[in-house]
Amino acid sequence: MRELFRALPSVDACLSAMDGVLLELDAPHARSRELINLFLDSCRNEIRTGALSDPAELDAARLMPRLEAFLREGLRPALRRVLNATGVVIHTNLGRSIMARQAIEAAMTAAGGYCNLEYNLAAGSRGSRHSLVDKLICSLTGAEAALVVNNNAAAVLLVLDTLCRGGEVIVSRGQLVEIGGSFRIPDVMARSGAALREVGTTNRTHLSDYAGAISVDTRALMRVHTSNYRVIGFHADVALEDMARLAHEHGLPLLEDLGSGSLLDFSPWGLPGEPTARQVIEAGADVVTFSGDKVLGGPQAGIIAGREEFIEAMRHNQLLRALRCDKMTLAALEATLRLYLDPHKAIASVPTLRRMTMSAAELKRRAEKLRRALRRALPAGLAELSLLTGVSRVGGGAFPECDLPTTLVRVLPLARTVEDTRARLLRTEPPLVTRVENGALLLDPRTLEDHEFPTLVRVLNSALDGVKS
Ligand SMILES: *Cc1c(COP(=O)(O)O)cnc(C)c1O
Repeated sequence: MRELFRALPSVDACLSAMDGVLLELDAPHARSRELINLFLDSCRNEIRTGALSDPAELDAARLMPRLEAFLREGLRPALRRVLNATGVVIHTNLGRSIMARQAIEAAMTAAGGYCNLEYNLAAGSRGSRHSLVDKLICSLTGAEAALVVNNNAAAVLLVLDTLCRGGEVIVSRGQLVEIGGSFRIPDVMARSGAALREVGTTNRTHLSDYAGAISVDTRALMRVHTSNYRVIGFHADVALEDMARLAHEHGLPLLEDLGSGSLLDFSPWGLPGEPTARQVIEAGADVVTFSGDKVLGGPQAGIIAGREEFIEAMRHNQLLRALRCDKMTLAALEATLRLYLDPHKAIASVPTLRRMTMSAAELKRRAEKLRRALRRALPAGLAELSLLTGVSRVGGGAFPECDLPTTLVRVLPLARTVEDTRARLLRTEPPLVTRVENGALLLDPRTLEDHEFPTLVRVLNSALDGVKS
């Protein structure tokens, strides 16, 4: 063991052996030393536990490639680009919406220079960041007023804290949902200082349940869009119009957390069932909240739209200071919303919308193109390729029941197991996230761009290669 310890190279020897790599990676000296020390520590540990017992493993030819991989891993950014072949358009784990070119450019402009974030250029005096996109939101939703915060969870928190603190808000038991990442509506409510008054049962809630729960403590009635699931079978829900009438008869606001929310009606594209923000407001909701980076296809944000008196109260809530958006978000959101002024333009240029509405014929053509590219590039014997009809998902809790028809490229690895290939694909540069079904990898062109195909072919080729393990 002492022999092995002595055979380990010094930090300086490692530094000079890795000279080229460190130069290539533009690695800061102190960080490089730190990583080399960590690497040598892990080698000592392996020697101590017996995992490293063959002196040949410490030869430069064996050890230095390991060190190089360790350095590359340690020096690369934590947040990296990945290829999404899952067919889930709004994939929360993969960063939800990809922004339109116009939104990206607006965010870059805001990031790279000073801007009138809180400066009224017309008056030459202090302005408000909250008056940058509110008019656009009003004209797109028909609301009297609007406010934007960090995300929809923050929007719900601000609404409840402003309008319901110290009182009760009535919600149906069928709508006490948990959204991915353990965001639970009841927990957010508790944080706001509003007491939750649950009514009805999981599968059935009637107008009389709401009416019977209204008391002097009631501050609002609330509806939560059951984004990611549907109750089917013996089921009853109260129509929005009826709830609005009941709330207004008692002088209470009706709040609606739309979740994903949308500004366009997607039923012409075979995506029915999600009301637009405008429809919900017209039907009588006083305040609606929705995400900026779900179906809207913009940056992470929470949009609050509704009656002026309620929005005005939120503008004066001290909590808003902690929930406000930064300049890049507001710039990207404004650019995204401007595209919506012409719905055709929005569909064509907001990637989330374009992917949601891509035709089955186009997807088939693109899947064929991807398969051709793979067939040309992959050496024989690595994988069996075929096309398969299947479904993609909108994701982000939107349109949970809608199967978007697609054509998938099915890749059956021949030299490795499917699970091993899938894991290796997560370590390529860039990583490729795939679906595994019935013992094969599935690639859905819906969430890929044509210009990404060559990169996909390259990483798939390297991941499929080698011996079966
Ligand atoms: C997604 C969602 C939220 C949370 O929105 P974020 O923008 O992720 O904070 C809240 N409510 C519902 C119903 C949702 O679908």
